[in-house]
Amino acid sequence: MLKGKVALVTGSTSGIGLGIARALAAQGAGLVLNGFGDREEIDALRNEIAGAHGIKVTYSPADMQKPAEIASMIETAMRDHGRVDIVVNNAGIQHTAPVHEFPVERWDAVIAINLTAPFLVTRAVLPQMVARKWGRIINIGSTHGFVASVQKSAYVASKHGILGFTKAVALETARTGVTCNAICPGWVLTPLVQKQIDDLAARERLSPEAARERLLGEKQPSLAFTTPEQVGAMAVFLCSDAASNMHGACVPMDGAWLAQ
Ligand code: NAD
Repeated sequence: MLKGKVALVTGSTSGIGLGIARALAAQGAGLVLNGFGDREEIDALRNEIAGAHGIKVTYSPADMQKPAEIASMIETAMRDHGRVDIVVNNAGIQHTAPVHEFPVERWDAVIAINLTAPFLVTRAVLPQMVARKWGRIINIGSTHGFVASVQKSAYVASKHGILGFTKAVALETARTGVTCNAICPGWVLTPLVQKQIDDLAARERLSPEAARERLLGEKQPSLAFTTPEQVGAMAVFLCSDAASNMHGACVPMDGAWLAQ
C-alpha cells in the first residue's frame, strides 16, 4: 500500500517507534530510522528490515533535543530518499518527580523532545508534502494528553500540548492532501514503561509480575498492555485512503483508561 512512499519515524530504535517503523516497512515504505542505541545493532536492524521488505532504510542519530541536528536529519533524508511522505513524531521521554522538586533541566528536556521536536520536524517536512498534495503526519500522544497522573507534570504538559499542536496543523492542512492525527496509547510494555515497573517494584518491594499487574490495575481496566504492533497497525491505517478525511483526530488505544 505504501510502495514509493518514504517514512521518517523518530525514536524508532526501540519500543513503539520500532513497531511503527516495521509496520510501515511491511507496506513497502522506505524508511528513515532515528534514535539512540548501539551502532552495530542499529545497522543490523537496518539491514534486516531493508532485506525483509526490499526497501531502502537509512538511519539518523539526530538528538531530538537539538534543533540543528533535527534540521540536518531532514536534509539528509531528502538527499538520501528524495522525499518524505510520512512523518511519525514518536521520540519521547519521561521523568517523574513532584512538581516542586522537578528539575528544571528535566522539564526542558521533556518539552524539547516530546513537543518542540515534533514542531521542528513538521515545519521542515510540510512544504514538500503540500507541494505533492499528499502527506501523513502522525504524532504519538498518550492518554496523558487527555488526563493527568501525579509526578508527571512535564510529560502531561507535553502530551496535552502535542494534541493541541496536532489539531492546529490539521486545520492548516485540511485542504492540502496532508493529514495530521495523533495516536494516544495507554500502557505499552516498552523500555520507557519497564523502568517505571522496576521503580514501582523496588519502592513497594513487589515481584516484577506483581508490579506489572499493579501498574495496569491502577489505570488500564483491560489489564492488558497495548502492543507496539497494534500501534504500528493504527499508523498504517492513518496512512490509508480510508483515513484520508481524518484530520486532527486523537485516537486512544488505552484498554478503557479514558472510559472511566
Ligand atoms: P522507548 O524508551 O522504548 O523508546 C523511545 C525511543 O526514542 C528510542 O528509540 C530512543 O532512542 C528514542 N529517543 C529518546 N530520546 C531521544 C532523543 N533525544 N532524540 C532522538 N531519539 C530519542 O519509549 P516508548 O515507550 O516506545 O515511547 C515512544 C513514544 O510513545 C513516546 O512519545 C512516549 O511518550 C509514547 N507513549 C508511550 C507509552 C508507553 O506506555 N510506553 C504510552 C503512551 C505514549
